[in-house]
Amino acid sequence: MSTSLLIQKGRIVDPSQNIDEVLDLLIENGKIQKIAKNISAGEVEIFDARGKIVAPGFIDLHVHFREPGFEHKETILTGMRSAAMGGFTAVCCMPNTEPAMDEPGTVGFVLLKAKEGNLIRVYPIGAATRGREGKVMTEIGHLKKAGVIAISDDGEPIYDAYMMRRVMEYAHMFGLKVIDHCEDKNLSQQGVMNEGYMSTLLGLTGIPSVAEEVMVMRDILMSQYTQIPVHLAHLSTRGSVDLVRWAKAKGLPVTAETAPHYFSLSDEEMTSYRTEFKMNPPLRTREDVKAIQEGLKDGTLDAIATDHAPHQEVEKEVEFDMAPFGIIGLETSVGLGLNHLVHPGILTLSKWIDKMSCRPAQILNLPGGNLRVGENGDVTILDLGKEWSVGEIPFESKSKNSPFREIKLKGKAVGTIVGGRVVMRDGEVISKIKDQKSK
Ligand SMILES: [Zn+2]
Repeated sequence: MSTSLLIQKGRIVDPSQNIDEVLDLLIENGKIQKIAKNISAGEVEIFDARGKIVAPGFIDLHVHFREPGFEHKETILTGMRSAAMGGFTAVCCMPNTEPAMDEPGTVGFVLLKAKEGNLIRVYPIGAATRGREGKVMTEIGHLKKAGVIAISDDGEPIYDAYMMRRVMEYAHMFGLKVIDHCEDKNLSQQGVMNEGYMSTLLGLTGIPSVAEEVMVMRDILMSQYTQIPVHLAHLSTRGSVDLVRWAKAKGLPVTAETAPHYFSLSDEEMTSYRTEFKMNPPLRTREDVKAIQEGLKDGTLDAIATDHAPHQEVEKEVEFDMAPFGIIGLETSVGLGLNHLVHPGILTLSKWIDKMSCRPAQILNLPGGNLRVGENGDVTILDLGKEWSVGEIPFESKSKNSPFREIKLKGKAVGTIVGGRVVMRDGEVISKIKDQKSK
């Protein structure tokens, strides 16, 4: 194992330190040792980053790795490979496994699998309630001891406002944040796409934007009343952005994320019944897409998370109504962010990196999110000009449910470095362990 890595002559962009300059970066024994011009070191591995961007390692706050329970969709190992390929050095995985991550044993299992896979950092998120059923609170203290870094019933909202309050209070006592999936399922009912002109045209049942917004508002009010932070997952509507903007103006400890598909696609692109376009919350209108972009620009939306949700091809090859919700996202997030936010000038490169790395680390109090000396040597290397077409090299994810297949993008992660170890270089994941990609 090489213990030193010198990343040479890359344009280092670290929003946390206001750095944007061509410099060298030296990582020794897993930690950042030095950032300076022309570092000369002895026997070190060199990463030539000329013409590339060197950013603090990207952190995804919201992924579904499906193991245990749904290994046919994804395993922790294939999920980690997908993350490494996409330029992520760390991910937070949601507890909607089978069994759910509602007790320390399951959390330990996930951490063990991640350790065996030994690629990127995996942080489990513990369930808020037993079986994510909203009825009995989990033992949050024990989950924290087992290694969870946040609490969520994602996939399900915490309906009972009293339960939500207790979960927030307990989680807060243990220094953990609650991440809420904002959806009133009584309003979304059997909906499969956004309710509006396009759902009428396609004859599909709609999910109204208010199904998301009523829960966003409730959580903001809970946070206002308790003064306890809450993090709102995958926001998709103009109304949600307005509500969070209002909460932030009042100084409430509310943070929010959106996902790449909500700033890249609207329901108008759904001219056919391709089930790759089915996700929850659904693709909204063009007006909503614009509002999401504005929310990212003015800081209302803090972070970009993929909500990476793998499903097997056969599961998606059914009628639109029957198909499961969700798309994969780890391998397209960087390209979509660059194409829809950075290249068009909506976000500066530095602001976008802030939402991919710095803010995610701050929101859940995770290591990383910056390139300060002494921190973990977690680095994402980007080639802003690299043109590629999605899926031209097979996805590392076990699943391929992406609406972006064959779309051409400009800009890609070309290096993923975790603790000073290169785990992906030029589109190749470097791992000793072969995944069990049996279909
Ligand atoms: Zn969710």
